[in-house]
Amino acid sequence: MNSNTKTPATYQHYINGSLHGSDAASDYIDVLDPCTEEVIARVPRGRQKEADIAIDAAAAAQHNWSLLPSVERAKYLKAMANVIRENRIMLAETLAREQAKVKGLAQVEIDVTAEYYDYYAGFARAYEGEIIQSDRPGEQIFLHKLPIGVVVGICPWNFPFFVMARKVAPSLLTGNTIVVKVSEEAPLTCLEFTRLLGKVNLPGGVLNVVCGYGNEIGEALTNNKQVGIISLTGSVDSGHKVMAAAAKNITKVSLELGGKAPAIVCRDADMDVAVKAIVASRVIYSGQVCNCAERVYVEEAVYDEFLEKLTTAMKAVKVGNASADSDIDMSAQINQKQLDKISGMVERAKEAGAKLILGGKKSTAFGKGYFYEPTILADVKQDAEIMQKEVFGPVLPVMKVKDFDEALRFANDSEYGLTSSVYTKDINKMLRATKELKFGEVYFNRENFEAIQGFHAGWRKSGIGGADGKHGLEEYLQTKTVYIQQTA
Ligand code: NAD
Repeated sequence: MNSNTKTPATYQHYINGSLHGSDAASDYIDVLDPCTEEVIARVPRGRQKEADIAIDAAAAAQHNWSLLPSVERAKYLKAMANVIRENRIMLAETLAREQAKVKGLAQVEIDVTAEYYDYYAGFARAYEGEIIQSDRPGEQIFLHKLPIGVVVGICPWNFPFFVMARKVAPSLLTGNTIVVKVSEEAPLTCLEFTRLLGKVNLPGGVLNVVCGYGNEIGEALTNNKQVGIISLTGSVDSGHKVMAAAAKNITKVSLELGGKAPAIVCRDADMDVAVKAIVASRVIYSGQVCNCAERVYVEEAVYDEFLEKLTTAMKAVKVGNASADSDIDMSAQINQKQLDKISGMVERAKEAGAKLILGGKKSTAFGKGYFYEPTILADVKQDAEIMQKEVFGPVLPVMKVKDFDEALRFANDSEYGLTSSVYTKDINKMLRATKELKFGEVYFNRENFEAIQGFHAGWRKSGIGGADGKHGLEEYLQTKTVYIQQTA
């Protein structure tokens, strides 16, 4: 996408190896630049019909795809990585513009996505079944690891290109075919990628990418009987709906949902490290990251010092237009709805007794766009909405705690269980937090950002199953046990 384009570009679904538009010229969704509110593109609003033809194409392609040796399938993943690298600047510019992601971070997302396809290609010769002992003479028992079939991957807007790869790479490597539904809020980078797939020469139907609203094409995909697994990354609310739809056909689900990551600052912490990492965790992509610090518990001995340093650091955060400005730390929120949600939560936090230290309002500094000021709320209560529900914006509520025990108790007092972080030099506190924090990830003395060889999995309402590394591959495999009795 050319960032200077005046006429909005029109995109299409990618189904069975070719591009498909909507039937009616009016059946398109406008995509806005969140910094300027300008319409920058139109994408098709798919419904039942597009869901059905995409799933049919994936189902028809699956058998032959699964018969290919995995090293052959891996070659296509490597080709996808190469196409991404060859177009890395254009893809990053598209990403920065469609979702107000600062250029540096947009480039990181594109480059890590290429690495992700390469990383999973590397598993081609590495994933294995097992031969197990039999109780009977002359019998052998094999555990085969086989593809599930057709995958539906439903993606959010906050890391659209990376999350799509998180579903596509392990699915295809293991012999599944996939239909991806990109987010209606930030579909353009994924759809640009489909325009480049000619160079990859994937067999038709192996990868299909469709666009539209969750309650239209999203629901149609999740209700389809031919689907073997639905992999959703999104909000807890969508998780409920997808699980309910999957229950009808007993379809497997893999859910990566919202978070409310606690950060615990201990009295022995290196305060500068803690402040830098917590600000980085909150400001990155304007606070719209499922992993990132959403609430801070500080031991009372260092509460005042931490708050003072945090305020200085948050005041220094530079805000600007993601695709036009360089040297900025954050930009606009994704849309008006998200901006209003953040604003409402901060207002209710103040009414519930929180003390506003910094920010606390929508920013009008740029004339247009969905900007919210970097915000600190102090003296917040544990049962306040702002400590219990995901904000998904540049807002840090901070609470004083008596000691480490109280911090652990409050951190675990949440319906979410995605990530958590602790700032301490004390090995005993690290060991206790490792054991006692009920979260899928714990970070010590660093910002919350996962490695592709790790395992990203939410506990409690933050999800079911997980992604990345060798365990992420397992998500897209099913096991068949074969008993072979020797007869002579
Ligand atoms: P969302 O739940 O609104 O939408 C996610 C996707 O689900 C979209 O493509 C949407 O169209 C689709 N959808 C919505 N309703 C559906 C339905 N009934 N059936 C099928 N599909 C449906 O989430 P979002 O606003 O795009 O993303 C932000 C949320 O995602 C946050 O809560 C964030 O924490 C979470 N998230 C989690 C992770 C993780 O790894 N755990 C990563 C990124 C984002």
